[in-house]
Amino acid sequence: MRTLAEELETLAKKEGARLFGVAPVERFKGAPQGHHPLDFLPEAQNVIVIGIPIPKRIINYHTLLKDSQIITGDFRQEYLQRYFYQVTGYDTINQRLEQIALLLTLFLEDRGIPTIYFPPTYGPYKDIQDRVPGQVGIFSMRHAATRAGLGEFGFNNVVVTPKYGPRVRFTALITAAELEPTPLLKEKLCKGRSCMACVKQCGTGALKISENLTVEEMMWYDPVSRTDIKTCRTNRLQAFCYGKCLRVCPVGT
Ligand code: SF4
Ligand code: SF4
Repeated sequence: MRTLAEELETLAKKEGARLFGVAPVERFKGAPQGHHPLDFLPEAQNVIVIGIPIPKRIINYHTLLKDSQIITGDFRQEYLQRYFYQVTGYDTINQRLEQIALLLTLFLEDRGIPTIYFPPTYGPYKDIQDRVPGQVGIFSMRHAATRAGLGEFGFNNVVVTPKYGPRVRFTALITAAELEPTPLLKEKLCKGRSCMACVKQCGTGALKISENLTVEEMMWYDPVSRTDIKTCRTNRLQAFCYGKCLRVCPVGT
């Protein structure tokens, strides 16, 4: 007979997820006050994390329309970033994640198991995001993904996964369900200072490695770098580097 975790994973993957992991709430020690899984759901046992990769041809959008007679000049960069990649590599994936998270939440609620899910992004609600200090989410999908054994924080300040590198978007659910945990990642992925491709090729200088980094050989379950979100958002279109910090990473196939 299949376990509940196996049933959930099958349902999530049937609906389009490619990554699925379970993190017991004990792995969230040190979360900011008010943002621990138990703060959202006092009876929580686990956090379920699902991921959908960005298709390869989508993340490489910068190669498109080079010879177009219709989309030309500076408009090509704007078209590809603000419209093509924004929709196919971001909005559509996040919408799918939201739908899957809703399905899993209702599946668990039908069995009497309290569960809550989160939007994976602020999407069009930038005015709300701008009022949050640091413009962070109320529950960190990236921290949840590392704790669910799906990857580690790379120098690009996103979660690097074995199969897809950092080219994955995530969402999470907090649930009272008793589930078998996914083992934490044991193999180191980010190549650290011997690579630095993401930092060197960031077109705006928005990525900064944390100072006094002394954990080079450890698994990074917490960020080792910072992204100046304002600099990134304001300048990335002109620099034609939206998503470049994901594209240039050599991890994953
Ligand atoms: S999107 Fe561009 S500007 Fe922003 S961090 Fe990535 S490479 Fe840098
Ligand atoms: S590009 Fe290199 S340094 Fe940056 S996250 Fe990937 S492996 Fe790490």
